[in-house]
Amino acid sequence: MSDQSVQDSKIAWHSIEIDQTLERLQSDPEQGLSASEAERRLERYGPNEIEDTGGRTAWAILLDQFKNIMLLMLIAVAFVSGGLSLQDGEFPKDAIAIMSIVILNGVLGYLQESKAEQALAALKNMASPQVRVVRDGKIVEVSAKELVPGDVILLEAGVQVSADGRLIEESNLQVIEAALTGEAQSVDKDAPIALEADTGIGDRVNMIFQGTEVVKGRAKAIVTSTGMQTELGKIAAMIQSVEDEETPLQRRMTQLGNVLVTGSLILVAIVVIGGTWAKGVESFRNLLEVSLSMAVAVVPEGLPAVITVTLALGTQRMVKRNALIRRLPAVETLGSVTTICSDKTGTLTQNKMVVQAVETPSHRFKVTGDGYEPSGEFKPDGQNPGDSDRDSQATIQNLEKYPELPPLLLACVLCNDAFLQYEDDQWAIVGDPTEGALLSLAGKLEITKDRFADRLARVAEFPFSSERKRMSAISKVGSWEELTDGGSLPFPRTEATREDPPFLMFTKGSPELTLDCCTQIQVGDRLEPLNDDRREAIVRQNNEMASRGLRVLGFAYKPLAEQPPEGSETEHERELIWIGLVGMLDAPRPEVRNAVEKCRNAGIRPVVITGDHQLTARAIAVDLGIAQEGDRVLTGQELEKMSDADLDQIVDAVSVYARVSPEHKLRIVQTLQKRGKFVAMTGDGVNDAPALKQSDIGIAMGITGTDVSKEASDMVLLDDNFATIVAATEEGRVVYTNIRRFIKYILGSNIGEVLTIAAAPILALPEVPLTPLQILWMNLVTDGFPALALAVEPPAPDVMKHPPYSPRESIFARGLGAYMVRIGIVFAIITITLMYWSYHQNSETWKTMVFTTLCVSQMGHAIAVRSKTRLTVEVNPFSNPYVLGAVAITTSLQLMLIYVEPLRNFFGTDVLTPTELAVCLGFSTLLFIWVELEKIFLRLFPRMNKD
Ligand code: ATP
Repeated sequence: MSDQSVQDSKIAWHSIEIDQTLERLQSDPEQGLSASEAERRLERYGPNEIEDTGGRTAWAILLDQFKNIMLLMLIAVAFVSGGLSLQDGEFPKDAIAIMSIVILNGVLGYLQESKAEQALAALKNMASPQVRVVRDGKIVEVSAKELVPGDVILLEAGVQVSADGRLIEESNLQVIEAALTGEAQSVDKDAPIALEADTGIGDRVNMIFQGTEVVKGRAKAIVTSTGMQTELGKIAAMIQSVEDEETPLQRRMTQLGNVLVTGSLILVAIVVIGGTWAKGVESFRNLLEVSLSMAVAVVPEGLPAVITVTLALGTQRMVKRNALIRRLPAVETLGSVTTICSDKTGTLTQNKMVVQAVETPSHRFKVTGDGYEPSGEFKPDGQNPGDSDRDSQATIQNLEKYPELPPLLLACVLCNDAFLQYEDDQWAIVGDPTEGALLSLAGKLEITKDRFADRLARVAEFPFSSERKRMSAISKVGSWEELTDGGSLPFPRTEATREDPPFLMFTKGSPELTLDCCTQIQVGDRLEPLNDDRREAIVRQNNEMASRGLRVLGFAYKPLAEQPPEGSETEHERELIWIGLVGMLDAPRPEVRNAVEKCRNAGIRPVVITGDHQLTARAIAVDLGIAQEGDRVLTGQELEKMSDADLDQIVDAVSVYARVSPEHKLRIVQTLQKRGKFVAMTGDGVNDAPALKQSDIGIAMGITGTDVSKEASDMVLLDDNFATIVAATEEGRVVYTNIRRFIKYILGSNIGEVLTIAAAPILALPEVPLTPLQILWMNLVTDGFPALALAVEPPAPDVMKHPPYSPRESIFARGLGAYMVRIGIVFAIITITLMYWSYHQNSETWKTMVFTTLCVSQMGHAIAVRSKTRLTVEVNPFSNPYVLGAVAITTSLQLMLIYVEPLRNFFGTDVLTPTELAVCLGFSTLLFIWVELEKIFLRLFPRMNKD
């Protein structure tokens, strides 16, 4: 068959049988495609990607840039200034320069926004789902982008479907197809049937579609189309829901623009009306020029570029620290987090499970081993009645002595969706580490999946869910001979198995909940009723293991006469036979202890929210310093009974929540937020999505997280590590502090310029001291370079030693507004004094002296503003060498403007004599001295420091 028929968009795949589908796509359900064939098809059909066709058009993004009030004012200035120049028969140099800046700012804003969209798309791509696919007969994980038609993929709850496909087999599969059909309800799928060709998408129950989400069950499917050929690809615009939310920074910038423009308009009005009133209409032209210069001076033209660079660098630094930002506002708001609600497994712990203890009704066993390697010791722990010394020294050789173990170990391998693989000289797992640990446990006694896969094939299952906290798998028992592997596995003939049951159901899950489903217990090779004493003993054993920080699972089984239908778990997961407990160690991540301490110093409260047992949770939390011995642990059950008011009362005091379900997480976040907290919340499962969306910073797990949780998050932890959240928070604080720092720096200068220009007519000077061109030069170049350097200022030593700031605070908060005004006034006093003095010295060059003093003063300011409280001599000048570099370059450029003739002519400056230059430099140091004096003042009166 030719390649032509593969990925033929005209084929109604839902209307043909599975065999035909496989044949047409030239694939095999067991072997999948070969790696080389997959590569060939990838080349032929291209990557499995949806091209970005939705969102705003490029024009719309560009036009949006000019909705900014400051740019509108500049455009008006350019027109008036151009008109005046033309009237005088001059070349409209200023107007062109201003318009160029307007256009440059617009283009820059455009690039920033479209780049941001692209960058986010690229980042999302990095978090692009991994898909389990069968290639060359092996299950491997490949990036969704590499899927090709004919690939056999495996799906399970939590997965976002990455291509369109025909189901080959499925179990309890339920999919939400809202992305495609708008229908929020999940759809039950059914593999075997073939449908009418004209069946609508919503009714194609034998198909799965890209962009939809598996919420329950498992399935195997063959990919029929990828990329733009999929149903979603065909209506690609549908998923491109562009988020048009204003970021806190944008909000603050709008506020800043409004204040500056209003302030300057008021000043202009005062100068023009006051001046005309005082000096008559003939001075109107001069006053108009003054106003134009003031309007140009007030707009911080360089600011957008500096902000873009800062945010971009911030995102990059975060990725380097393993935090992938999915929504830009998170970069700025991360620093405001007051509470981090974290999962336990994998985030606080390593998620490398190693079984250490097994307790069956009559025996306790000790297990040792390394990682997932299915070898190591599995021996009685020496405390069982009847254990000899020899028994407790060696791995069990003879299972017959321990008849409770065979059912338990079979449950470990049969009620299990993970696989052990030997790769690159080590044992690794594909799937859930908890299940991997159970496979390696059973492997230590040579009970493996392969050995029983055919004999005890799984025919049905009740899949795991975080709400039920357990799962069951039903295996068909061909014959007793097969079950016992020809007698080599001594599965005991109990009352339950005497009649050769046709099906066996194995259940594993949280010990309490599994125990609740049991009515009998297997003791030796007999069944006994599970009386209260027995139950209490099991709970005691469970608590004892959990308080050692072990993650404990309970096991049970039950013979079944018939294969249970899908969804009948409530009916069948009862009257089970209890067989034992398995405790596994999931060691805390070593770096988390430090991260927790850092959080505490930074006024951030870490909270554990886990599905695990309260004692396990507490042991880990205490070990990591999140809670203290004796602290209250709230369980999901208690939470359920609690009223909102009661929860509200204690939510600030509880640091450990155990045995919670995803919907409890939502309630916890909401209550914390009601109490004014700014909450970061981690999650990995499908059902965590609402809590992730509700939280202020939703954090998904990069490794273990489901695609659905990633889609709902603001940030993805590439390494699933709690310490990364703290690192990202730190970066968030650094970004915000640096933004505030250069805003302070730039705007102080703008205010100084405006006041100096306004003073000229008041002091009866004949001309405007600064031309619009010179002002643009200052705002863009001589302020811009040092500001860029300040954007990469390393974190201050105390960045994680103060409580977080509110994300809703104004840009002028914590003394920033007052600082700007104060520095602006000092700046103006210095330059106005110089202006007045030099003009009255009959200097020809007074304007160039004002221009130079304004520029050079800012150099000293850039050096001083690096720290709010540390004197410049106390700050290592090389900890941010960019500031020194920027100061050197900018000063040289400024001198070139005065001493290089063509530049002098263009910018309208005059040559300064060495004495005049020295006077300018002398005046310029005054601003630096002022800022340093402020620091000394703040040290003497620390209460005055609002920052
Ligand atoms: P966290 O919420 O911190 O990630 P968790 O992994 O314990 O912790 P869940 O995945 O919701 O949270 O699991 C809840 C409980 O369900 C576990 O404590 C365990 O008892 C049980 N459990 C977890 N995985 C499985 C599984 N594969 N099969 C059966 N039961 C499981």
